[in-house]
Amino acid sequence: MALEGRADSERRTEVELTADHNFTLAAGRLGLSADQQLLLRTPFREVKVAVPVQMDDGTLRVFAGYRVQHSGARGPAKGGIRFHTDVSIGEMHALAEIMTWKTALVDVPFGGAKGGIACDPSKLSLAEQERLTRRYVSRIHRFIGPFRDIPAPDVNTNEQVMAWILDEYSSRHGYSPACVTSKPVELGGIRGRSTATGTGIGMVLAEHLKARGRSIRGARVAIQGFGNVGANAAAFIEQHGGEIIAVADVNGGILSSGSRPLRVPDLIEHVRLTGSVVGFPGAMSIDNDELLALPCDVLIPAALENALTESSAGEVRASVIVEGANLPTTAGADRILRSRGIDVIPDLLANAGGVVASYFEWTQNLQQTQWPRQKVNRKLQSYLVRAYRSVRKIAEARDMSFREAAWLIAIERVARAESLRGALS
Ligand code: GLU
Repeated sequence: MALEGRADSERRTEVELTADHNFTLAAGRLGLSADQQLLLRTPFREVKVAVPVQMDDGTLRVFAGYRVQHSGARGPAKGGIRFHTDVSIGEMHALAEIMTWKTALVDVPFGGAKGGIACDPSKLSLAEQERLTRRYVSRIHRFIGPFRDIPAPDVNTNEQVMAWILDEYSSRHGYSPACVTSKPVELGGIRGRSTATGTGIGMVLAEHLKARGRSIRGARVAIQGFGNVGANAAAFIEQHGGEIIAVADVNGGILSSGSRPLRVPDLIEHVRLTGSVVGFPGAMSIDNDELLALPCDVLIPAALENALTESSAGEVRASVIVEGANLPTTAGADRILRSRGIDVIPDLLANAGGVVASYFEWTQNLQQTQWPRQKVNRKLQSYLVRAYRSVRKIAEARDMSFREAAWLIAIERVARAESLRGALS
């Protein structure tokens, strides 16, 4: 019997190289010493566990599970758990680090973490997914908790998975709603959390277009990825007068034909019924590469890492890219987009709505209160707009890209916290 999941090779993964690139640029501008940089980048804790699961047919499989806590300098570690065949320790390192900078940039009192299980959830029954989740929590429960590390959904995980985590954790530690976020509302979840990442993308985009003297109204938008993030971003943009002209998922893409944009509620219904955007009535078929190269105003990569590479970045015809996914732009692609004058709203800022709403949920749980949805959305907007403005201000004052400015602000905050706590001299 073999442990499942990709071998953790010594070679740094593409996403780690992207994080290296982004960190080094900003840390250089901040004048951090090599020692300081080493301390800020090295994950605080990394856990790898074997997750044995009895399958429905009676066989046993052993999956590889991970939880990497990059930093707890500014508060408990925070970040999602994903189920995907590509999950590896290298990917977890990079994604956990991104969470540290994201929480610092939007100024919520958390550090950064990421977890995952190397598996293909589309090939697992619901009962198998439940056993997998519960066994994973049984392996990592000592390392998580409301003041230690708080998981949330990520790729291929959802409120149901969070409910199992809550149940499994609480059965060992006493009822602890604040141990996980994006729970069902019936279990202490907050209204508006499940849509917050996509809504936040729309809010940041609206603020950016306003700053450029433009508007979401009439903007032509292409979205790669139509899961929780892509679909909710599309819904927000459509509600504010933008036009979704193309969407792609792992099975392929669609382009609106004629001058009528895609109707998002119909598309969401089509995906619910068929499992994919492919075959949406009245739309033309395109592939993922064609979607990235479409003539449009805004491109939103909202699927996985490394969507924009050196070969695809030169083809982009949008004037604004909003990073719905984490680390969707490789270092090489980033240089090309910058040289072509394309505005890139980086992941740390663009998709931070999810973790900001998670923060609201956590405080709601600690205080045993219930926030109305309007309050969540109003406060979400104010956190994101404040972060957007701080990034733009630094980018303009110091002639940097939005990405460099975002990393610079975030790294400076974490470095300051580490220094006050005594870790950095
Ligand atoms: N998985 C989401 C992210 O990458 C949300 C994390 C959270 O709410 O903790 O930002």
